[in-house]
Amino acid sequence: MDYIEYETDDRVAVITLNRPDQRNAQNAGLLKELDEAFDRAVADKEVRVIVLQANGKHFSAGHDLSPEAQNGPPWDHMFDDVKQNGLLAMYQWELGHFFGYSRKWRDLPKPTIAAVQGACIAAGLMLCWPCDLIIAADDARFADPVIHMGIGGVEYQGHAWEFGARKAKELLFTGGFIDATEAHRLGMVNRIVPRDQLGEATLALAHEIAKMHPHALMMAKRSVNHALDAQGQHNALQTGFETHSLGHANAWIVSGYPVMVGLDEMTKANKGNANGGAKS
Ligand code: ZN
Repeated sequence: MDYIEYETDDRVAVITLNRPDQRNAQNAGLLKELDEAFDRAVADKEVRVIVLQANGKHFSAGHDLSPEAQNGPPWDHMFDDVKQNGLLAMYQWELGHFFGYSRKWRDLPKPTIAAVQGACIAAGLMLCWPCDLIIAADDARFADPVIHMGIGGVEYQGHAWEFGARKAKELLFTGGFIDATEAHRLGMVNRIVPRDQLGEATLALAHEIAKMHPHALMMAKRSVNHALDAQGQHNALQTGFETHSLGHANAWIVSGYPVMVGLDEMTKANKGNANGGAKS
């Protein structure tokens, strides 16, 4: 694996994002390896709890925005395709790789714990939100700033469920950060620990949970997730993905590019069929 580390510690699988120099930005390879690691932990009968953590100062800066990341259909080559097929290719990619992965990981049949330090931005939220528990280092901070790209939120729009409606709107409207303390107060984070104790504290909690019967753990998780779905979470998340996709469509209409970052630059890049440093 190039982007992920995987190890087991007794009954706990520990999956570690390992692109610290890129602030654990998510390219296609990282997402694929991460999904395979989750599958491996689920398939291992000895594993009862899964920890997701990250090497380096930051949990994840979101999707890797560099052209070589291949985070979907290469935008530079999409212009002709969009004219013929609209946003079909982009929609399908994001449905499978962004929204789809997060949905799948949310319903893994074993408890998952995310350990978050530093910045957790945009698609970074799509890694920790699907986990059952979130332990935050005291330096953790969270934001979904895609409003700056002319889009209403990331592909997996858990905001209202994680923050409550009013805070969700504030954070979406401003693209601003909340720190670990506020995330804890709002119920998004289970516990805050000093940065240098994050790994140890998360593993201790994982081992405590791993003493429980695996069937009981799975049923407890299913029960709570079903309660959320009974309140409409499943359908709301699906609708959130559709509105995210509508944001891409609107950006194409307005700027000729999937997002509205540096509108003038994007328009120029489109005309010149150069990349222009596009963001997603
Ligand atoms: Zn998108």
